[in-house]
Amino acid sequence: MTEKKDMSKREISLQRADELKSKINDYLEARENIQKGLELEEEFQKSKENILNILGGTEEDWDDYKWQLKNRIRDVETLSKIINLSDKEKQEVKEITGRYRWAISPYYASLINKNDKYDPIKLLSVPTVAEIVNKGGERDPMGEEFTNPAGSVTRRYPDRLIINVTNECAMYCRHCQRRRNIGQKDEHRSNEMIQQSIDYIRDNPEIRDVLITGGDPLTLPTHRLEWILKELKSIQHVEYIRIGSRTLVTMPQRITDELVDVLKKYHPIYINTHFNHPKEVTKESKAACEKLANAGIPLGNQAVLLNGINNDKFVMRCLNHELLKVRVRPYYIFHAKHVEGTEHFNTSVDDGLEIMEYLRGYTSGLAIPTYIVNAPKGQGKTPMLPEYLISRGKDYIMIRTWEGKVIKYANYPTQDFKEIVK
Ligand SMILES: *Cc1c(COP(=O)(O)O)cnc(C)c1O
Ligand code: SF4
Repeated sequence: MTEKKDMSKREISLQRADELKSKINDYLEARENIQKGLELEEEFQKSKENILNILGGTEEDWDDYKWQLKNRIRDVETLSKIINLSDKEKQEVKEITGRYRWAISPYYASLINKNDKYDPIKLLSVPTVAEIVNKGGERDPMGEEFTNPAGSVTRRYPDRLIINVTNECAMYCRHCQRRRNIGQKDEHRSNEMIQQSIDYIRDNPEIRDVLITGGDPLTLPTHRLEWILKELKSIQHVEYIRIGSRTLVTMPQRITDELVDVLKKYHPIYINTHFNHPKEVTKESKAACEKLANAGIPLGNQAVLLNGINNDKFVMRCLNHELLKVRVRPYYIFHAKHVEGTEHFNTSVDDGLEIMEYLRGYTSGLAIPTYIVNAPKGQGKTPMLPEYLISRGKDYIMIRTWEGKVIKYANYPTQDFKEIVK
């Protein structure tokens, strides 16, 4: 090949590189203004000291998840010492109290910017009157009550199911899609109920994947969790166990060495967590995620698409990047269901499709979760994707690339392999 030709190839490549660069400038600019927990350590530290003063705790208490759980903030008086609430806001919180449960771990409260009415952490944790003003939504849009063959099992799929072990959480998220289960008081499921669930799994050999969920299963005492893991592990056909927990986000102190030592005895274990905003990815969360990842537990994230929090293509891209930095693989983005009391967070499916459009190609495949609409009445998770297959004919398909180029692609019927390779 002549040098001249090489040069022109290099020139073409440089031109293409410039073109590609121009496709990310808008994101790089927007990213500057997105709050990221890993960059806000100083602010969080100040809030933490303030909260410790108000609650009369020590640094040591702070790192103890039992202290965090016991000291969850759940009255307006304490809350209004921690964040600035107008009289109107205080009144609103009071109105919600008793109607819908709320409680915020001191740790999660320390992430709130107390002067910002639209702070994402505040919107996710502090009740507002929107929960009762915004009428509509169903109590049980998933018809979970009709997919409960035994104990506290939810079964919607052929080979896997959920066991619900508690309704307790470190923080009661304002957007909770399982609000119906949360109720008013903490109740771990009884031993009998859990035993019935385990027996159901034992009796049904096609169940190869069991998800432990709640509430938040990591609010259970470690020995109780270990009992469940041990029982499941003793069932031959259970190939692996998954745990769904938001404590990595709302109370990372829960991820103690003791817990990790127990979990890793029951491998293969997978944990899925629930980050919704880059501000939630903090130094403490990172430490918790790293501890679990170092113990060989793959971590996934299930975000919920929420109006005013993350229904933005750049916030969601940034979230997925922050997650990968702390060794969490984006798994799902759930379209918010119509759940009573959470309707103000609902978005159009278009918001989700736009987010997906601006992930593929623009960022690593690793940073691209599946966007899911839950079909009504528990009929299953249904993936939503922008159109990439535009049309088809007898011997071609038309594809649309991530940049929007439409290209004809040859397509023929698959031949019998043994006819070709004789
Ligand atoms: C979401 C869910 C699962 C797990 O689904 P995956 O797509 O395998 O992560 C299993 N059972 C029920 C009832 C579920 O809602
Ligand atoms: S941690 Fe999960 S189950 Fe608990 S309130 Fe939040 S979203 Fe609901």
